[in-house]
This record gives sequence, structure tokens and C-alpha cells, in this order.
Amino acid sequence: MKNFLTNQSAADLEKWCAVSGYPKFRAKQIRQWITGKFVSDPDRMLNLPNALREALKAEFFAPSMKIAEVDSAPDQVAKLLLQLHDNEHIEMAVIPAGDGRITFCLSTQVGCPVGCRFCASGKHGLKRNLTAGEILEEFLLGCQYIGRKCDNIVFMGIGEGLLNCNELFPALEELTSESGFNLSPRRITVSTSGYVPGMKKLAELEKEFVLAVSLHAPDEETRAKIIPDPLRFPIDDILQAADNYRERSGRLVTLEYTLLAGINDSDTHAEKLGRLAYKHHAKVNLIPYNATDTEFRRPSRERIESFERKTAASGATVTRRVERGSSKNAACGQLRINAGKK
Ligand code: SF4
Repeated sequence: MKNFLTNQSAADLEKWCAVSGYPKFRAKQIRQWITGKFVSDPDRMLNLPNALREALKAEFFAPSMKIAEVDSAPDQVAKLLLQLHDNEHIEMAVIPAGDGRITFCLSTQVGCPVGCRFCASGKHGLKRNLTAGEILEEFLLGCQYIGRKCDNIVFMGIGEGLLNCNELFPALEELTSESGFNLSPRRITVSTSGYVPGMKKLAELEKEFVLAVSLHAPDEETRAKIIPDPLRFPIDDILQAADNYRERSGRLVTLEYTLLAGINDSDTHAEKLGRLAYKHHAKVNLIPYNATDTEFRRPSRERIESFERKTAASGATVTRRVERGSSKNAACGQLRINAGKK
């Protein structure tokens, strides 16, 4: 398979230019287009000779994906459906905050093997991993869409990123390195369903990425109703891995908790969750369920507020995800599934 232009380092490109008969400075120009102007299409690299543009297109996936559809909610959250070189689809979201900052929510896999029961993305399993080049190109397309580099990235789109460490970690390196996109690791959140081996590997990087762990339940019995075997790890192991991450990265871990009516939203659940979060110095982020066509329902406003109060009563820091984006495709993975039906 061809390589992806977006994750060729300066050294890789210099080597390729030398072998292909182009001077070294061309490698620098190509990198400037990618990292400075977010362009991965050689046809748009206007200071390159035509023959070099053609050679790049023949050698690499460049570009390897395109925006197939944009779904914009009234509050300006935009979901981008991206078509990959093999005709698969992924999604990313562009999320503006009131203060002008923009967050990208990026995918790491095509489909997802975890299969959380409330999630549209996991419904049909894993198709394949994204490569580091594709993860970076997703970011580039987002930058092209907003006309600048984003302020924050959350890897909370389609896929369990820590099952794809071999591709995600080089992409993180390129996003944060000075010679790459120079984003602070503190502005990048890696989300996991609690895949313990991947949490350990991320901790070994000893970087200040934010780690968000989707706990969704404070006890095994409830969690088994939400996350199926075999990729569901014991809660004790997950919290131990979260402690290890906090110690090695110096960052507090966030426990993500999707609130599902009648499943995990009782006061008892809230009290247990609060105690666990307090004990493990973790923050809690509550996410009232955004209904898709599953058996799950969103709790009432009163239940959500009561749950929040009970969890916070333990002393833990509790936030609630801001409600934004209510279009028909607002739920994660919905656009991609609809694309498959077309
Ligand atoms: S919620 Fe995340 S981990 Fe779970 S199935 Fe969906 S994409 Fe995968």
C-alpha cells in the first residue's frame, strides 16, 4: 500500500527527493504546505513544479480523503463526513466554544470493536484502523474547513484510539512536535473506553495529554449492561491504570459517564461514582444520553440534576457536557451509518 504524504517527516521527504532527483529544498517546501498551510494536495502546492506534483501523487496518498458531507447544527457545531481512499467513511466534528476557541473531535478507527450498546459507531464492529497519516489528514481537513489551526483536539470520534496506539502515537507526536503542528499536549484529550493495556502505554509517553476514561458505571453489573465482553476491563484495573496515568503525566484523569435512564442514573450509582472519583482524584464529566435508535433513553432533567448533586456531594469535581448540536445526525457515528445506507 502507498504511504500517506501527511506523515512523511522532513527527513523522509528529503530522502525521497534525493532518490527521485529533486533538490533538498523541495522537501522543505512540501512540509511548509502541510504544516503551515494545512494542504496535503500536491495540486495546491503552487511553488512546486508540475512534474514533482505528479510524482507526489503517484507515490503517496495525497490527499487521501475528502469532505463528503457537512451537517451543521443551528448552534454551529459541524459534523464532517469524510470519505477515505478505499471508500470507507469516518466522521469528525468541529465544535466552537463561546470564547472563539474551536475544538476538533477526531476519529481513530473505521468503526469500533468495543461495541458499547448505546453507540452508533460500534454497531457494526471494526472495519479497520486509521493510519497516522489519515488521522493527521483528518486534522488538516478540519483546519482547511475553519481556515486556521484548531485550539483543542479530543479523540472522541469513531473508534477506541488506544487499540490503535501504533498509529495514534506517531500522529500525536506530529501534532505536538515543534517541527510538526506544535499543539500543546495539554490541549489534546485522548479518550478510551477503559482499554487498560493502551492506558498503560499512553502513561509511558509521560506527556501531559488529557486522559478521558468512559466509565459509564460505578459497578461491574451495571457496566456489563453498557459495554459488552470481551473488551470490557474490570473497574478496579481501569482505576489503577488511571492512577498510574495521573502519577506519570501529572494530569488529573476525567471519568466520562453517559447517563442512561433506568440503567446507571440512580442516586446509588451517583453516590458510588462520587466516592470512586474522590478516592482516585478524578474529575467526573456527565453526558446525558443523546438518543439514537437503541433501546436506551435519556434521563429526565430532574434526574440528571439530582445525579449531578449526589455525585458532587462526595467532594468530587463534577461537570456536565454542554448540550449542543441537536440535528438529526447529532449522535456520534450517525452520519457514517446514514452514509452507508445511501
Ligand atoms: S462509545 Fe467509543 S468505544 Fe464505545 S463503541 Fe462507540 S466509539 Fe467505540
